[in-house]
Amino acid sequence: MAGCVIDATPIAVDFWKPTKAPQVRLFFLTHLHSDHIEGLTSSWRLPLYTSPITALLLKNKFKLPDSVVHELEVGHSFLIPLDEGSNNTITVTVIDANHVPGAVMFLFQGYFGNILYCGDMRWDPEMLEDPVLRDVVQQRALDVLYLDNTYSAPYCQFPSREEAKQQIFKIIDMYPDHEIKIGINTLGREKLLEDIAKRYGERILVSQEKYVQLQLLGCFDVFTTDPQQSRIHTVPMKQMQVSSHKKWNEKYQTISIIPSALYSGWKNGPYSSQKM
Ligand SMILES: [Zn+2]
Repeated sequence: MAGCVIDATPIAVDFWKPTKAPQVRLFFLTHLHSDHIEGLTSSWRLPLYTSPITALLLKNKFKLPDSVVHELEVGHSFLIPLDEGSNNTITVTVIDANHVPGAVMFLFQGYFGNILYCGDMRWDPEMLEDPVLRDVVQQRALDVLYLDNTYSAPYCQFPSREEAKQQIFKIIDMYPDHEIKIGINTLGREKLLEDIAKRYGERILVSQEKYVQLQLLGCFDVFTTDPQQSRIHTVPMKQMQVSSHKKWNEKYQTISIIPSALYSGWKNGPYSSQKM
């Protein structure tokens, strides 16, 4: 779900065009996927609220000053003034979105009622263990729900993370001598990559930028930037093309894996239009 200004409030979430919404005073960031930070650059100086992990990654990416990025601990509620020196406040509760590292949902409470902004959450019943959210839901007191409906269709059936991982293990098991290419975005799949590395006892090749990010996230020491040390390589998603696979195959027998929900519900396979 791309960002927006929350109706009739001075709050914006994942929305970084202040000149288009001069009434906005409070900017919130759910997570660091590129479609949620369009317009956010290293010159951003308005106060921005996000989870500590996203704050860490954001400061690393854009070198934003500490005074700009306000960390909101996940699982806690915060009272935030609407204006500098104002007595008017809102409460925001930060809830793990079960998406990528640092990703959260925001529950806003104030004169506008109760508004839940889900971001790119992956539903898990555990989310209702947050007492504030649970109370709002039980009392049916939610006024507005911002929900990403990209995959809200009966034909979009996803395996669980565990099932998807087992499917990937099965594929890699079948090709012990092949090179493996795994398509990734700038954030996400860190745990999957760790689990693959541990299962096969092999280091996984990542870019220098990804390596720094994995270190910031405190991931296990199972990654490398040296292609000589690795059979399993991560590749930016945009490079996962039939033409690239052909090229890789000329050098080494290669298996390409895209661990993504992106193509769920497509009538034709994602590469059906590309020349084989
Ligand atoms: Zn996302």
